[in-house]
Amino acid sequence: MLMQVETRALRKQAATSSLTVTDITAQAAKLEAFDGHECIWLGRDEERGLTAIVAIHDTRLGPALGGTRVWPHETFDAALTDALRLSRGMTYKAAVANLPLGGGKAVIWADPARDKTPQLLDAYAEMLAQLDGQYFTAEDVGLSLADADYLRERARNVTGTTKGGSLNPSPVTAHGVYLGLKAAFAWRNGHDDLTGVRIAVQGLGSVGWALCERLRDDGAKLIVSDINELRVAKARKELGAETTTPDAILAAEADIFAPCALGAVLSAETIPLLQAGIVAGAANNQLAGHDDAKLLMDRGILYAPDYVINAGGLINVAGELDPDGYDRERVMARLPEIPRTLTDIFARAEKQGRPTNDVAREIAEERLTSARPAA
Ligand code: NAD
Repeated sequence: MLMQVETRALRKQAATSSLTVTDITAQAAKLEAFDGHECIWLGRDEERGLTAIVAIHDTRLGPALGGTRVWPHETFDAALTDALRLSRGMTYKAAVANLPLGGGKAVIWADPARDKTPQLLDAYAEMLAQLDGQYFTAEDVGLSLADADYLRERARNVTGTTKGGSLNPSPVTAHGVYLGLKAAFAWRNGHDDLTGVRIAVQGLGSVGWALCERLRDDGAKLIVSDINELRVAKARKELGAETTTPDAILAAEADIFAPCALGAVLSAETIPLLQAGIVAGAANNQLAGHDDAKLLMDRGILYAPDYVINAGGLINVAGELDPDGYDRERVMARLPEIPRTLTDIFARAEKQGRPTNDVAREIAEERLTSARPAA
């Protein structure tokens, strides 16, 4: 069992601390991005320069988990909106991955290059310690592994750290994407033998490269691109991959397109260019907008929803909360859940003539409503 959730209860802090943590749920409820979030905490410490929002969206399945983003949003409401949207996304991601976790996310309203001082992190660690039991954090944009390690020395509820943490998530994510990609191929072709199948991979970073290695071992024909020329040259040499320019990869003649670089690569402008019949890759937020999945469906392209197929990273971090401690083998054993869920999504989407991302959301909602009622 994971730690007990104590929504709205805060641990005591030292009387001398300059930090205040207040519940601003009522204020957040006025924003369009508010979606019945359980609780929004604001941490303020003028002395140490901290303004942090921790949004807890839904803890019906377990304590909230989601990274801390450090970003200089133009306004406080923009930072709050970001926290509201991201925490909601985490609820769906955890639910569809069948994890006993809820959705949460934190935004520190600051410029990571200029404002992220040890004092600010000290104040934030105090805030985290107060939310121990209801919120677990991790790295995100603007918060590095070193920062996570620093916070972990001061608060228990920090995941993805060096010591006692779950190590580099990329091999786990890549394996989950590989299994998901095969499930998508099998759905279309009735078998999952990738020999000779042409797969266009966009991005040869930690996940993209590890994915390519698996696909090459299966006999797939790789067409790859990266903005980093060295990686492209290495792929030609070590993976025997055909290479193309970042502009041309979307239109590459391929059976499968695997976006493993940036978000928003699939839009009304780019979807008509796709030659592949399947999109299955690691990148977060692949669609420019939710409705772009309908454009893919209308073109007969099978889309593996990004947050379902790339859930390996979250499954990996969740492994840290296991009472017996983190164990990579146990984490890897959970990955077949990804192709199972995807196959479920494909079946329901086809039967009902609906985009796969709508069905993914519906499955997450079903798992949430079958859990205990919201606190
Ligand atoms: P990474 O930074 O290691 O790799 C990204 C690669 O994409 C880099 O090699 C970069 O040069 C390349 N790239 C950037 N712009 C490009 C472009 N226009 N065309 C082609 N290549 C381009 O990142 P990663 O950890 O491999 O993650 C890849 C994607 O998967 C990201 O969207 C990330 O959010 C998502 N993701 C990663 C994990 C994980 O465990 N690392 C988990 C879930 C989701």
